[in-house]
Amino acid sequence: MTAVSLGMPPVPPPPLAPRRASRQIMVGSVPVGGGAPVSVQSMTTTLTADVNATLQQIAELTASGCQIVRVAVPSQDDVEALPAIARKSQIPVIADIHFQPKYVFAAIDAGCAAVRVNPGNIRQFDDKVKEIARAAGDAGVPIRIGVNAGSLDKRLLAKYGKATAEALVESALWECSLFEEHGYRDIKISVKHNDPVVMIRAYRLLAEKCDYPLHLGVTEAGPAFQGTIKSAVAFGALLAEGIGDTIRVSLSAPPVEEIKVGAAILESLGLRERGLEIVSCPSCGRAQVDVYKLAEEVTAGLEGLPVPLRVAVMGCVVNGPGEAREADLGVASGNGKGQIFVKGKVVKTVPEAQIVETLIEEALRIADEMGAEIPEELRDLVPGGATVTVH
Ligand code: SF4
Repeated sequence: MTAVSLGMPPVPPPPLAPRRASRQIMVGSVPVGGGAPVSVQSMTTTLTADVNATLQQIAELTASGCQIVRVAVPSQDDVEALPAIARKSQIPVIADIHFQPKYVFAAIDAGCAAVRVNPGNIRQFDDKVKEIARAAGDAGVPIRIGVNAGSLDKRLLAKYGKATAEALVESALWECSLFEEHGYRDIKISVKHNDPVVMIRAYRLLAEKCDYPLHLGVTEAGPAFQGTIKSAVAFGALLAEGIGDTIRVSLSAPPVEEIKVGAAILESLGLRERGLEIVSCPSCGRAQVDVYKLAEEVTAGLEGLPVPLRVAVMGCVVNGPGEAREADLGVASGNGKGQIFVKGKVVKTVPEAQIVETLIEEALRIADEMGAEIPEELRDLVPGGATVTVH
C-alpha cells in the first residue's frame, strides 16, 4: 500500500546555507566577515613603483566595481610608491609582501589598509611576528595570512609530501597562532590551490577550525575561460555552504576581467544585487532569427548600464512570449518581426532589423525612469536624452 502523506508539504531548504559566522575585520572602509556582504577584489599588474600607471589601473578597477585592490611590493622602489598610492586610491590598498619583513612595517607606515604576507615565503618572519603584531595592532591594520600551494612552507611540504588541503590549513593556522600569542587577531586567511577540488577541501577544513574571515581564491586559475570556470565552480561550492567573505578571481587576463567574473559569481548566487542580466535562449531548429547575434548585440549595446534589469532575448514563439513576459524587458521573435515586451506587456512589434535598437532604447528609458546614472557613452541613445542625468 502506498503511504499517503496528510501533513504539510515539505518546505524546500533554502538554496544557500547561512553565512558562516566569522569575526569581522575592516580593510580600510570595507568590512570583511561578520556578515558583511562578500566583497570583490583584484590585484594590479603594473609596476607598483610606477605610481601613475598603478593609480590609473586602480581607477579602472574601481570603475568596474572592485572594492579592494592589492599591489605587489617586491622592491624598495615599490615600497616608496606606497604612500602616494594608498593616499590617492579611492579603494583600500593592500600591500602584498613576500620575503621582506621590513616592507611590512613600511606598508603600515605608508597608510596601506592591510598587508598580505605569505608564511611560506617570509624568511625570518616568525622572529618578527611580535613587532609586526604590535605595529599592525597600533595602526589598526589587518593582515592576510595568504598560503599558496606553490610556495608552501618547506617544513610542511616535507611532512605532507605535497601541498595537500591539510598542509595548506596547517600552515595558515600555525602562522595565525604566532600572531595570537601576541594578542593580535585582526586576520583574514586564504589557502589557495590551483585545483578547485583541493582548494574547496582546504577552505572547508579551515572554516571548521577557526572563525577568521576567509579570502577565497583559486590560484593560477589560468586564462580567462578556464580560470572563470574553475573560480565559479570553487567559489560557488563554498559560497553556497556559507563559506567565504571576500573573493579574488585570478585570471591570466586584465584585472578588470577578474572583477567582472567575481561580481557575476556573486550575482548568480544572489549574494549581490543582480545587475543587467540577459536571458537568451540557446536557439534551436525552431529559431526564426539569429539569436546569438541578437543576444550579443543587445549585450554589447547595454554594457555598463548600472541597473538590475532582466532582458529576455528569445528566438521564436514557443517559449519566447513566456520568458519575455517574465523579464523586465524582452523580445519574442518570429516571422521577421519582434514583439517587444515591457514589464509583461507587449508595447510594440517591430521589424527584425529594429529589434536591437528598440530593446536598447527601452532599456535606457527604464533605467532613466529608475533614476540610474546612465554612462555617458549610452546617453545619446536615450529617447529624450536631455532628461538624463550624467554623473
Ligand atoms: S525559444 Fe524557440 S528558438 Fe529559442 S530555444 Fe526555445 S524553442 Fe528554440
